[in-house]
Amino acid sequence: MPPFDVPEGDPFGPHNLPYGVFSRVGSSERTVGVRLGDHVLDAGAAARALGSPYADLLAQPTLNPLLAAGRTAWSDVRRALTAWVTVPAHRETLAPHLHPLSEVTLHLPFDVADYVDFYASENHARNVGQIFRPDAADSLTPNWKHLPIGYHGRSGTVVVSGTEVVRPSGQRKPPADAAPTFGPSLRLDIEAEVGFVVGTPSPMGTPVPLSAFRDHVFGLCLLNDWSARDIQAWEYVPLGPFLGKSFATSVSAWITPLDALEDARVAPPTRTHPLLPYLDDSSEDPGGYDLRISVAINGHVVSEPPFSTMYWTAAQQLAHMTVNGASLRTGDLYGSGTVSGPAETERGSLLELTWNGRDALALPDAKRTFLEDGDEVTLTAWAPGPGGTRVGLGEVTGRITPGT
Ligand code: CA
Repeated sequence: MPPFDVPEGDPFGPHNLPYGVFSRVGSSERTVGVRLGDHVLDAGAAARALGSPYADLLAQPTLNPLLAAGRTAWSDVRRALTAWVTVPAHRETLAPHLHPLSEVTLHLPFDVADYVDFYASENHARNVGQIFRPDAADSLTPNWKHLPIGYHGRSGTVVVSGTEVVRPSGQRKPPADAAPTFGPSLRLDIEAEVGFVVGTPSPMGTPVPLSAFRDHVFGLCLLNDWSARDIQAWEYVPLGPFLGKSFATSVSAWITPLDALEDARVAPPTRTHPLLPYLDDSSEDPGGYDLRISVAINGHVVSEPPFSTMYWTAAQQLAHMTVNGASLRTGDLYGSGTVSGPAETERGSLLELTWNGRDALALPDAKRTFLEDGDEVTLTAWAPGPGGTRVGLGEVTGRITPGT
């Protein structure tokens, strides 16, 4: 089958065209690629072959120049790419620049600038509240419905899908113990999230309003916020997550442009509390995205979290993150927070799926409370696309190796 004939119904058809960075087997040269079915198009080489003005933007070792080029350029480049892969006259010219995915290595697609992680699922926040504060009158903290809670994470340990994750060591102190001990985490967990990638920067002192979300955010990807629950539980009061999360954060190798997700936009859940004007999205376009996520451990699906249930939208998170005048940089990444739906089969962490280890999960050949060495966790997702199609998101996978 000629490479352009992507099977009908393929979630990576010409309606999708996510961006990544690849090198060919045997070469160390990285360049921007666009996924088409089970192939990757060398975008810079294709642009050169067709005499496109975007060749310099695409023949790059990271997506950062494209991210920095801004929304008009994003739309123009996507329009050009769509034409290249759908107009039959280009087939012969482009064929040498299409490579099977099995013959390339995928890399972290952009230089991550700052990394922020939020906590935007009401179901997740309520579950965690019930697990850790069972005696509290309300499972949500008093601020939760008024602002998207977040923290600044560690951008230097954001890794591409496929990177092995070494079990972290640190201080752990179960409540009944008198003193902490040091050693490998015994409660290693996942958090199924969606990451948003900032393209256009903003200057210090200038908040980014809800209405400017699409001018700044280029696209999204799946994200696994690996979490060592025992380290986290002992260290987090009063300043929040630190070493329990900073050892690794995995992102997919493919960044899906927001322009590919127009048919997936949905209204977020009904707001139960009035919002301050900078967060009030009642007169904005729908800010939610209908992304259907699957979480698999060793190939066995354990959960299907629905992103459409997230209370806070990515636009609200961006507005909140900058309302104090904090600047944005090209390559900033922010995570949505663990995605958990209302059903028990829709929870995005083992903490919730096993209710803090109380109820072991049954895998085909084993039971799990938290992750064991050798376990491989894979997040996949799709979204509704144009004309009944599906838009696939690039998977994010990682295998746990023993700590020291
Ligand atoms: Ca998280």
